Amino acid sequence: MISVAEADRRLAGLIPSRSAETVALERAVGRILAEELVADRDGPPYDRVAMDGYAVDASEEVRTWTITGLQLAGRPPLDRTGRATAIEVATGAVLPRGCDAVIPYETTQRTNDTVGLKDGEAFPVSGRHVHRKGTDFHQGDVLLQAGTRLLSPHLHSLASAGIDPVAVVRRPVWALAATGDELVDIREQPEAWQIRRSNAAAIAGEAAAWGLAPRDQVVLPDDQDKLVRGIEQLLPDLDVLVLTGGASAGVLDLVPAALKALGVETIFHKINQRPGKPLWCGRLPSSQQGSATLVFGLPGNPVSSLFAFRRYVLPWLLACEGRPPAERRVKAPMAERIPPGQTIFVPWSDTLGRQDTHGSGDFLALAGSTGFLEIDNDPRSLKEPRYFPWGGVL
Ligand code: AMP
Ligand code: MG
Repeated sequence: MISVAEADRRLAGLIPSRSAETVALERAVGRILAEELVADRDGPPYDRVAMDGYAVDASEEVRTWTITGLQLAGRPPLDRTGRATAIEVATGAVLPRGCDAVIPYETTQRTNDTVGLKDGEAFPVSGRHVHRKGTDFHQGDVLLQAGTRLLSPHLHSLASAGIDPVAVVRRPVWALAATGDELVDIREQPEAWQIRRSNAAAIAGEAAAWGLAPRDQVVLPDDQDKLVRGIEQLLPDLDVLVLTGGASAGVLDLVPAALKALGVETIFHKINQRPGKPLWCGRLPSSQQGSATLVFGLPGNPVSSLFAFRRYVLPWLLACEGRPPAERRVKAPMAERIPPGQTIFVPWSDTLGRQDTHGSGDFLALAGSTGFLEIDNDPRSLKEPRYFPWGGVL
């Protein structure tokens, strides 16, 4: 049996190198940009009028102008026609040629085609209310680095540079298989000795909240041959396969043997942790067509399976995409005595603190939690433990 730290070390050594895929720009929030973004034009691309008013030549030092035209947004630039003339302008328009400042409507008085500054208003100053071409960036500048986690403001830059679809880091493809002959579908009425399958719903829901929904979800029976064939069908093109149930030491805990029969090499089986000790992890080496597949056999108990998924599988999926680990430390002093080498996971609520369970089958106790804490006999973990929140928000 290995420690949590040793399991982390082994998993960290198995993170594949990144590749890119493209997504529609409007679906790119939350993704990691795979290539740097280079500006195809200056920003702004032309001297842009920043206020509604009149464009003038400030060097003339006059206070009254004849209005000779109207420059609207989206129209090619007009020319100023002579001394003491002004062109009425709209925000977003290109600054008419021969002008260098805008006087806003608020500072002016107009009579027919003549406009003048109100009493007390100062002469216009060159550059006022003009957003000059290239003030923000120049053509050829790197606007976003590869590796940027895209938020909505970044989509302005990408869209302005004409990028759609956008190259982002490929997300790992994974599937979820629940095992157990006692399991029935969520919409079925179970017999007295059956239960409705809940692990997959909780695990897939957790993953989806981080943008990592599984590609497939299946159910496999407690039967060696059917298990082997079912897993074999799922494996091609997968980065990760997650099984729930059948990984401990009972008569029908057939998952480790089925995986071995398929050539999946054991990376570890059993971690010194509570809950979730019988966690199994293995790797199917790359075939000629594809790359390696990591396989997790999670314990079937609802609490254990969700904790193990959140603690090991989700961070691994995030790391494949180059995203930071989804955890932080919280100040939560714990009066726990934990044997050296062991780790316990404690359901935790942001507002209510510790949430105790009746063991690893008691999923209702998790309903009051916002995540869980990880505690071992390291003094820091007893004062400021690592916290793994549910649901996509750190
Ligand atoms: P196992 O790891 O297969 O021995 O299962 C341990 C416990 O978890 C048993 O009580 C199972 O009935 C339960 N269990 C297994 N899989 C699921 C599932 N998908 N949803 C809910 N409970 C499950
Ligand atoms: Mg089972």
